[in-house]
Amino acid sequence: MRVAVFSTKPYDRQYLTEANAAFGHDLVFFEPRLDLSTAPLADGFPAVCVFVNDKLDRPLLTQLAASGTRLVALRCAGFNNVDLHAAAELGIEVVRVPAYSPHAVAEFTVALLLALDRRIPRAWARVRDNNFALDGLIGNDLYGKTIGIVGTGRIGGLVARCLRLGFGCRVLAFDQWQDPALVEIGVEYGPLDELLAAADIVSLHCPLTPTTHHLVNATTIARAKPGFILVNTSRGALINAEALVDGLKSGKVGGVALDVYEQEADLFFEDLSNEIIQDDVFQRLLTFPNVLVTGHQAFLTAEALAAISETTLRNIAAAEDGHVLENVVMAEAVSAPRASS
Ligand code: NAD
Repeated sequence: MRVAVFSTKPYDRQYLTEANAAFGHDLVFFEPRLDLSTAPLADGFPAVCVFVNDKLDRPLLTQLAASGTRLVALRCAGFNNVDLHAAAELGIEVVRVPAYSPHAVAEFTVALLLALDRRIPRAWARVRDNNFALDGLIGNDLYGKTIGIVGTGRIGGLVARCLRLGFGCRVLAFDQWQDPALVEIGVEYGPLDELLAAADIVSLHCPLTPTTHHLVNATTIARAKPGFILVNTSRGALINAEALVDGLKSGKVGGVALDVYEQEADLFFEDLSNEIIQDDVFQRLLTFPNVLVTGHQAFLTAEALAAISETTLRNIAAAEDGHVLENVVMAEAVSAPRASS
C-alpha cells in the first residue's frame, strides 16, 4: 500500500525500511508532523502513518478523507491524539501498536527514578568538571520504600514486579483490574487516596482518558505523602503541571521525573537549543534541582523500534488485504475501561 509516513526521524526511516523488506509497501517519508498545513502531502495516499504528537482532530481527518485516505496507522500504543468518532464517521480506520516492548518503558521508568533520586545527572556534570565533592548528592535506598503504581497493565505491572522483587519495595497499586499474578507477589491493591497517602514514590502508568486527565492536581497533591516523588512515563496530561510547580515550590512534592509533558507537542522530538522556549511552566519545571525531564524517550530501544515497525506494517498489510484488523481502535474504546494504552 502507498503510505505517507509523517513525523519521521532517521531512526524511524531506518527501522521501517528494514522491516518493510518483508512487506513491500510503498513508504514515502515526511519529516514534518501531520497537521492541516502538511496534510496536502498525503493527497491521494490511502494510508497515513503517524506518531504520538500528530493531532488527528476532526478538521484534519475531514481533509484526509476528502483526499482519499482510508487508514490511519499509529506507530504507538496510545490513541488519545485521534478523534475516533470523527474517524469512524468519515470511514477512516485507525490501527495502532498495542504492545511493542513494555520492558523498554518499564526499564526506563526505573532508570529515571534512580537517576533522579541518586542525583546521577548532577554527579556526572560535576565529575566532568573535575568536581568530586559529594555534598548535595544524598539519595535514598529504594529498599523498604512504599511505591504507588497507578495502572498495573503491561508497563505498570513490570515496574511493580521490578520494584517489588528486584528492590524489595512495598508496592501499592490502583487499577480497576487486579492482576492476580501481582497480588501473588505481594502487590497490594486499594483506593487511590490510600495509595497517595502512603506512597513515597508514585509512578503513573494508566492511559490518558477523560477520567485520568489531570489525575495529579492540586487536590491529589494535597492528599499525597509530604515529600513524595512523582514519576510519569505515561502521558503528560495525567498531570496538571501548574499544580506540580506549586507542589515543588512548597516542598510537598519532593522530586519529579518526567518523560512526558502535557504541552510536549510544541517541544519534544525537535532540537530547540537555539530557540526561546515560550512555555513558562515547562521552563520553571526545568529550574528545580529535584526535577529530571527527558523528551518522550522511554520507548526508544532497538527492540521496541523493530517491533513498532513490524506491527505497523503488518497492520497496513491486513487493511490492504481486507482482513479483520487485529489492532483496530474502535471509537467506543474512548469510553471503555481499558481504553487507551
Ligand atoms: P495497558 O493498557 O497495558 O495498561 C494500562 C492500565 O491502566 C490497565 O491495567 C488499565 O486497567 C489501567 N487504567 C485505566 N484507567 C485507569 C484509571 N482511571 N486509573 C487507574 N488505572 C487505570 O497500557 P500499557 O501498555 O501498560 O501503557 C501504559 C501507558 O504508557 C499508556 O498510557 C501509554 O500511552 C504510555 N506509554 C508511554 C510510552 C513512552 O515512551 N513514554 C511508551 C508506551 C506507552
